[in-house]
Amino acid sequence: MSDCIFCKIIAGDMPCDKVFEDEQVIVFKDINPKAKTHWLVVPKEHVVNLQEVEDSHQSLLGHMALTISRLARQHEIGDYRVASNNGAGAGQIVFHMHWHVLSGAVDISTL
Ligand code: AMP
Ligand code: ZN
Repeated sequence: MSDCIFCKIIAGDMPCDKVFEDEQVIVFKDINPKAKTHWLVVPKEHVVNLQEVEDSHQSLLGHMALTISRLARQHEIGDYRVASNNGAGAGQIVFHMHWHVLSGAVDISTL
């Protein structure tokens, strides 16, 4: 989507502090971190949020979860929270699905 900030990051048209990338996902640091470690796990396909996913996304969703598990081990971030805001009423601001990974001094009040 041309007006989507995360699609622009995926396309390389906007910078990000990248943690990981493969053919299905990109993981980068949140620009406004709410914890010592605050990553965003973002599918390369433009999916709005979990309200919009279909059966065809099953393997992508599993891949996102496994990517978090593997990266958390690799980076030794310890205990962490995975959070996803789905819809404006739940605090979603960027309407390209992303899962927050937070570890260390997590501020749970302002996500
Ligand atoms: P949400 O409220 O779940 O939609 O969260 C969107 C998140 O994206 C916020 O935590 C923002 O700080 C973060 N964000 C917005 N723009 C960027 C960007 N260009 N690079 C990294 N993170 C961003
Ligand atoms: Zn997008």
